[in-house]
Amino acid sequence: MISEKKNLILRELEEGTGAAVSATEDFSGLRAGLRIWFSDFEVKHGPVAEMRAYGLRGHRVELTFGNFSGMVLDQIQRAQLEDIQLARALIKSIRPEVEVTIADQTLTDWTINSGAFRMTAKVRDQARPLEDSAIVATCRDVIVPMMAAMAELIGYDVIDDKPANEIAPYEGAILASTVKRRERNPRNRLLCIRLHGEKCIVCGVEPQHIYGEAGSIIEVHHLEPLATLTTPRPYDPETDLVPLCPNCHRAVHTRRPIPWGTDELRKMREELHG
Ligand SMILES: [Zn+2]
Ligand SMILES: [Zn+2]
Repeated sequence: MISEKKNLILRELEEGTGAAVSATEDFSGLRAGLRIWFSDFEVKHGPVAEMRAYGLRGHRVELTFGNFSGMVLDQIQRAQLEDIQLARALIKSIRPEVEVTIADQTLTDWTINSGAFRMTAKVRDQARPLEDSAIVATCRDVIVPMMAAMAELIGYDVIDDKPANEIAPYEGAILASTVKRRERNPRNRLLCIRLHGEKCIVCGVEPQHIYGEAGSIIEVHHLEPLATLTTPRPYDPETDLVPLCPNCHRAVHTRRPIPWGTDELRKMREELHG
């Protein structure tokens, strides 16, 4: 039964979303499942993901809101367009074989307007759906992006490293802090890794292959941040973020205010090392 895998599931979700997650067995349906929610909210006060077996070879995950989610829903109404785009991009990053549906809405422009919101994902193609590897795959493929999307919309642990009394003196500084916030946002990092993997796009190093367990050090770089000062274009989390190893990331930011381009850095490396 899926409910017996609770600890495995909690570990995967906490690692994947960076948020504290709680779960309880749920015997209300035909098959025992697991109800999963953010520990910071009570189960009735926020988004809840329910995971159950589906057919003989699959899992079904349904995300709904508890009966007393009013405050969380209000908070979601205040989400910025950028948070909404990131949430949508996270859901879009679920592999296409998984059937994701949102009641009465499309996957490209969904929003959460009421507690009736319902998102369902069906994973069908698992040979042994009750084995740990299949459970872990559904957590990583489906539940992590779903919960991360909700965390982004709710504004879970918003990163703001600007001291409260510091007022950005010029537009470049405002932009630089926006870039830093995007690069440090754990959900942007998650999306970037889901879309591009963990290989540095400049030097090709994949830290996990070198350091194993200690190798989760790939960083997220925001392309073209200050160059667009004169002609700003809308931020796109799918194309504007790339993975860089910590060395290359430090290297691109040695030029200020406009960092070296990743192509420029690659060329510098090639000139020295062929
Ligand atoms: Zn690198
Ligand atoms: Zn950067």
